[in-house]
Amino acid sequence: MILASRNSHKVRELAGILPTADLQPLPDEVELPPEDGDTFVANALIKARAAREVTGGSVMADDSGLEVDALDGRPGVRSARYAGENASDRENLDKLLAEVASLADPVVARYVCAIAWIDERGRELTFEGRCEGRIVTEPRGQGGFGYDPVFIPDDTPPEDMRTMAELSPREKNSISHRGRAARAMAERLEAAAER
Ligand code: IMP
Repeated sequence: MILASRNSHKVRELAGILPTADLQPLPDEVELPPEDGDTFVANALIKARAAREVTGGSVMADDSGLEVDALDGRPGVRSARYAGENASDRENLDKLLAEVASLADPVVARYVCAIAWIDERGRELTFEGRCEGRIVTEPRGQGGFGYDPVFIPDDTPPEDMRTMAELSPREKNSISHRGRAARAMAERLEAAAER
């Protein structure tokens, strides 16, 4: 199936999470429309439908981001462009850190990932995964991408202060929003194939 994403981090993570899936890169001629939906699911569907329209085959797309409770859910669906349309991960992270600087601990947050899948016949399914955690003000770690250097997941033991960027790819995939959404999709597709 085609993976409707040009984010190399996501592509690499999804290939690790779904090692037996034959994920094909998005053809160059597919122009992904603006992600102007209000929800992660709406944006994942926008990307998947655009890819499906051009390729005609089965496609999957991921839309994801970080929600901070004390910021009314921001950056949310604007996570990739929080500091501006072409902002870098570092610029987005710096904007977030400036906004949370005065907040009391813990700064409760979660990653959310929606995956939209469209099969050869045009049937659409969506899946969602979440990873609860908190934001720290000192970035740490070289792994992952985006906001990972300031996000401590709740899934690791309380004494484990590693940020998502300090976990191995395998550890991140086992608890991440993307891992959860992709495994939900894989389970559903496998169950359908067995029927
Ligand atoms: P999208 O490409 O519109 O889905 O935006 C995803 C954005 O959400 C990324 O650019 C990151 O800023 C953030 N994000 C999503 N997943 C992750 C993750 O696993 N780690 C860190 N940041 C993430």
